[in-house]
Amino acid sequence: MHKNTLVTTVGLNKKEYKGAINPPIYNLSTILFPTLKDYYNATQGNSIYNQLNNYHNYSYGTCDNATVYDLAQAISLLEGEDCNTLLYPSGLAALTFSILTVCKTGDHVLISDNAYNPFKKFIDTLSRMNIEVSFYDPIQDIRQYIRKNTTLIMIEAPGSVTFEIPDIKNIVTAAKKNNIITIMDNSWATPLYCQPLKHGVDVSLCSATKYFSGHSDVIMGAITTSNTSLFRKFCNVYERHGLCMSAQSCYLVQRGMRTMAVRLTRHRDTVQQVAKWLEKHPLVQRVLCPALSSFAQYELWQEYFSGVTGLFSIVLNKRYSFEQISYMIDNMRLFGIGASWGGYMSLILPFEIGKIRTITKDNYYDGNYIRIYCGLEEAEDLIEDLHNALTRLEEYA
Ligand SMILES: *Cc1c(COP(=O)(O)O)cnc(C)c1O
Repeated sequence: MHKNTLVTTVGLNKKEYKGAINPPIYNLSTILFPTLKDYYNATQGNSIYNQLNNYHNYSYGTCDNATVYDLAQAISLLEGEDCNTLLYPSGLAALTFSILTVCKTGDHVLISDNAYNPFKKFIDTLSRMNIEVSFYDPIQDIRQYIRKNTTLIMIEAPGSVTFEIPDIKNIVTAAKKNNIITIMDNSWATPLYCQPLKHGVDVSLCSATKYFSGHSDVIMGAITTSNTSLFRKFCNVYERHGLCMSAQSCYLVQRGMRTMAVRLTRHRDTVQQVAKWLEKHPLVQRVLCPALSSFAQYELWQEYFSGVTGLFSIVLNKRYSFEQISYMIDNMRLFGIGASWGGYMSLILPFEIGKIRTITKDNYYDGNYIRIYCGLEEAEDLIEDLHNALTRLEEYA
């Protein structure tokens, strides 16, 4: 079945819903058992309700909630065969707990230098635990960065703000040779446009806040893997840290998934028009969008991804002041100013690229970097808004 069809029903266990088309939202802390023996059995991993999930005891509401399981199962089915998914309170938590799960004191982690920036800041916590971190240039050969004690490589493809595409297969090959776990942040493409597990990556990770939810009303992360012993490790760390999900949020993300394929098709079509229009604008030096044939890793992008989504960046033709950029952006009609992306509304934000890079500071163009997220509006209207914004910049300058 085509994934676009799958996504409209995936994860629904309709037999359980007494005819309702949508899943119930189970609000629970306590789970009741008919007898004391049933309760004790559940705490030992043998619950009378266990058909729901093999990885938790199903004895208490922190980890055991059917609304949460249904969403996890839906995401698993999109990522590949025989997968398991664990949901986190945010995409960032999915990233940080990936390291806490895989690494111990004395280990070394490699993180892509263009990783989601708040995640890069987690190295402060890791250094207190004596877990070493180093950043790698995603377009260089990974082998030069691997050390004896490297146990984890964090991949992000395309990388944040500048969208470089690493050669996933090369990283996976080097990792397997050295017994290193690989985890890929797939938030940008989602499993609809890229399946990291099929390329040999051990764990696929998404910020469900973005396209899964699609409405800027939920924060959530997910990890998916077909490696059962690794998944069990994720579950153990999860339980010990007292992580849990709200059923309400899981319901909202499931609901978002029903329209995810149509939304992504819309983002894809819009970005293709907007990015091509920007490429011709005299104030734009570069458009950093992997789907453009002018993009440096266009071929790698074609190899790993089946579609472009709503987020890309531009580099302006020179350096403009904060006041000039503000004058351009503050007066836009459709593009909102704010963090995150993946919802229905277009967003725009400038980035100081030098400040969020550690080892690749010299790789960049001189000129302001502006990240653009195309929402669900008509491309024509977005182009008009961008045209007016760039005209304001020109007039001010
Ligand atoms: C937004 C984002 C995250 C973090 O997701 P939250 O759910 O907002 O915590 C992680 N990775 C990438 C690539 C992102 O863009």
